[in-house]
Amino acid sequence: AAMLALAGCGSGRDGDSDTKGEAAKGFAANSLIGVALPAKTSENWVLAGELFTNGLKEAGFEGNVQYAGASTTVADQQAQITSMVTKGAKVIVIGATDAAQLSTQVAAAHAAGVKVIAYDRLITNTPDLDYYVAFDNFKVGQLQGQALLDGMKAKKPNGPYNIELFSGSPDDNNAGVFFDGAMSVLKPEIDKGNVVVASGQKEVKQTAIQGWKAEGAQARMDQLLTSTYGSKELDGVLSPNDTLARAILTSVKGAGKPTPVVTGQDSEVESVKSIVAGEQYMTINKDTRNLVKETINMVKALQAGNAPQVNDTKSYNNGSKVVDTFLLPPVAVTKANVVEAYANDPKLAPLTK
Ligand code: BGC
Repeated sequence: AAMLALAGCGSGRDGDSDTKGEAAKGFAANSLIGVALPAKTSENWVLAGELFTNGLKEAGFEGNVQYAGASTTVADQQAQITSMVTKGAKVIVIGATDAAQLSTQVAAAHAAGVKVIAYDRLITNTPDLDYYVAFDNFKVGQLQGQALLDGMKAKKPNGPYNIELFSGSPDDNNAGVFFDGAMSVLKPEIDKGNVVVASGQKEVKQTAIQGWKAEGAQARMDQLLTSTYGSKELDGVLSPNDTLARAILTSVKGAGKPTPVVTGQDSEVESVKSIVAGEQYMTINKDTRNLVKETINMVKALQAGNAPQVNDTKSYNNGSKVVDTFLLPPVAVTKANVVEAYANDPKLAPLTK
């Protein structure tokens, strides 16, 4: 009743949530903005760093972009965030190297009045996360699962199809979401017996590739080929991204087996070439330019004292709260639409001609 009474008087803006009240303070236009990215496990992280450096500068901010080291990623990233807080950053954008290991650092950031934005990867088990900006991760998985089915059907009209499942690094919250999205499409077919995971390895802990490392995926594929595909035909592989897809294809080629339908994600240069050449079956276009642009828009809104635009306030529960999220749509790319998919991308368009 008190809330209603309050909202009833005054401008109406003051009756809104606490978050908006806090944001209304804004901060100086040339403030320090920290960007803490994970190790460069795929090309999108390299590109994101360049785009943040340039984009923040263009917007008049002082940007500070850091990558977690390749080996001691968690401790590195924790120290980088702590140092950004000490230096007086007003917003810290984080691509988490380990979703569950940053609660202490983001709590300290909040205590110092810093806004925290999770970029691409959610930060879990903390109430001290303000916003999340990402491509729709569940949708990415659904598109991968559907493409896998479509690709196998195009090669061989009737099942049963033998497949293997790979998932990303277990410390990355996205890995489980991609996998769940893909399984939402594949599981009904598996239950019907039309699709068979011939190794029997269907649990995330069996399929996960620590650190999203190519060598991990290649080694697991080598093992699967030996244990399961001596005489059986491998029709398809669910791969969560391009780096792992190419490692899987290298393994299959090395074993002298026919090329299965292999999914991917990220539109990496070598994978786009591989799709054009008819090897890797699909990838996902998550245009990093748009993701960085939306993130910088959030920073600009916070600077001006406005609430950043979000379009999803229910999907991403991080274990402590449901995080206000801005989701962008991912696009599935196969040889059939590769030309139009990258028509406005100066780096990738020439590869499709
Ligand atoms: C990103 C993917 C990327 C993977 C490995 C994920 O969190 O969403 O685009 O392939 O990390 O770098």
